[in-house]
Amino acid sequence: MIGKMTGKSILFSLLLFGTACSKEVGPPGTPAQIKPQQAGLTLIYNAQIYTMDRGFSTADSMVFDQSGALKFVGNEKPMRDRFPAAKPVDMGGKTIIPGLIDAHGHLYGLAVSLTQAQLQGTTSKQDIMRKLHEHEANLSAGDWLLGRGWDQNDWPVQAFPSRADLDREFPDRPVWLRRIDGHAAWANSAALAMADRDLSGDWQPKGGFIYRDENGQASGVLVDGAMALVQKAVPEISPALLQASLGLALQRMVSLGLTGVHDPGISRQVLDLYRQRIRDGQFPTRVYAMTDGAGKTLDWLCENGAVSDPSGRLFMRSVKLYIDGALGSRGAALLADYTDDPGNSGLLFVQAEELEAMIDKALACGFQVGIHAIGDRGNRVALDALEAAIQRYPDNPGRHRIEHAQVLTRTDIPRFAQLGIIASVQPTHATSDMYWAEERLGPERVQYAYAWRSLLDTGARLALGSDFPVEQVNPMLGIYAAVTRQDISGWPPGGWYPQQRLSREEAVRGFTLDAAYAAFMEKSVGSLEPGKRADFIVLDQDVMQVEAADIPSIKVLQTWLDGELVWQR
Ligand SMILES: [Zn+2]
Repeated sequence: MIGKMTGKSILFSLLLFGTACSKEVGPPGTPAQIKPQQAGLTLIYNAQIYTMDRGFSTADSMVFDQSGALKFVGNEKPMRDRFPAAKPVDMGGKTIIPGLIDAHGHLYGLAVSLTQAQLQGTTSKQDIMRKLHEHEANLSAGDWLLGRGWDQNDWPVQAFPSRADLDREFPDRPVWLRRIDGHAAWANSAALAMADRDLSGDWQPKGGFIYRDENGQASGVLVDGAMALVQKAVPEISPALLQASLGLALQRMVSLGLTGVHDPGISRQVLDLYRQRIRDGQFPTRVYAMTDGAGKTLDWLCENGAVSDPSGRLFMRSVKLYIDGALGSRGAALLADYTDDPGNSGLLFVQAEELEAMIDKALACGFQVGIHAIGDRGNRVALDALEAAIQRYPDNPGRHRIEHAQVLTRTDIPRFAQLGIIASVQPTHATSDMYWAEERLGPERVQYAYAWRSLLDTGARLALGSDFPVEQVNPMLGIYAAVTRQDISGWPPGGWYPQQRLSREEAVRGFTLDAAYAAFMEKSVGSLEPGKRADFIVLDQDVMQVEAADIPSIKVLQTWLDGELVWQR
């Protein structure tokens, strides 16, 4: 799926052809007129192209060169006249938009999650065994087979499973599978044998429970506090497995049309992992990495300067900070108490002075700051700190961001535009949280939560993302959530606080041009315009025209990066 395919071989044959014919003269449009410099051009035609430029222009054709730079975007006829030698690619009337950019997605986090078998939605033990064998194909000899997501309530016989079920299929390799809620785990004998104490007998660990058979032997399921007995023995992820999983994560991204991601919370080690893949030519997307706080990674970055890999696929010039927690667990810092938990207004992770010191450190090195802020107090403190720091560092190029910007006050909403701060928001968080967000916030505050329309109306810029693997990777789900504020089943009718919905154009812009802007990349990606990179995706349906309910089912047929087809359905 990751290829250097078409581009290079086409280029090669065109070069030969061009050279052979270059001395001859013939009527216009014949091969004899082909100029050597036209060799390697590709003409995409017969497409519904939404360029996503500022004017929301459309086109039916575009031409890019062998380096992946767009030469022209517009109508087929003049382009054919001008570039007769370009290799034509008929798109069969399909829709093309710029490659989508997830402005907040954890690529490394996704890779780590893929080191485990994903068992959510399985309906029988056979189903699980099939998934486990599939997953095992990526493992090396010493690796444990880890998984998560089984639920015996979904099986024909709803009893806890046993180690014997797993031993039959996996007699040697330790298997350790967490239940869907994370409160129990199912192990085979090889895993149980790794426990730091003999699990047989009639004792029970503190805060936990070991299921045993009639002989007093652990039968395979450990609950809560008992899980630690085996968990301690689970080895760190091997480099080979991590690389394989990163490959799968990248493949998932491009198969869903993501040609870019802003990856928050990245260490130098992860940066090196990415670089290694880039060197190996196996990195079919662009990553805009943000540091893991203001510690060692930032020190290193300050010393060595911003990362801008010559491949154009890896950048780091941004610092990820945290001010508070999440709304679901009531860790988000609110200005007043939680409506459903009087006396609790959440917590700031760091105090304002500490946050300011970290921001200063980043701005002094010329970098952008992105602050995770969920509650209205968290956002207030973050905005105050950024406002002060922007004045202290007038030469810093700015474009600072607040990640999530979930609960705001009416008076803080206009400050984003005033300060040039980007709201980096995740539409699917709203549709995941809407079932309980109002209980937490009450009817007043909730009106300024997930307030995308209010932010846009004050002139703020929205960069849209998913926060995968917390939410699903598919950006079509984000576009759908942004334009409907409904879940996949269409609930609630008319949308949740529908006055905050975005138009299709605004939603796609948040996943393209404005996401690019949030990464200082709007001059090279985010829209299909001459001089920019040929990063685009081909869709099976027109995302601007289909019924909103059909947006989640839109399929990406092809993903192109730098003018190369990097994935095809
Ligand atoms: Zn995140």
